[in-house]
Amino acid sequence: MMICRHCDQAIDPGNAVLVMHEMGNSGPGWDVYACREHVDDVEIIDPVVLRIMTRIWTAQAARD
Ligand SMILES: [Zn+2]
Repeated sequence: MMICRHCDQAIDPGNAVLVMHEMGNSGPGWDVYACREHVDDVEIIDPVVLRIMTRIWTAQAARD
């Protein structure tokens, strides 16, 4: 069953949009869906981008 990341409601398959694939800590991960009305409201944070940003923020904090 597909659940909207934004409103936590079950989505009709014809109305579901795949927004990202989340990596599991110990498993293969899972697909994250949103209903068509909410796809723009879901914040998509790429884990790789997040890791790079965290490194930049940490470096900036260390400099201050
Ligand atoms: Zn929704």
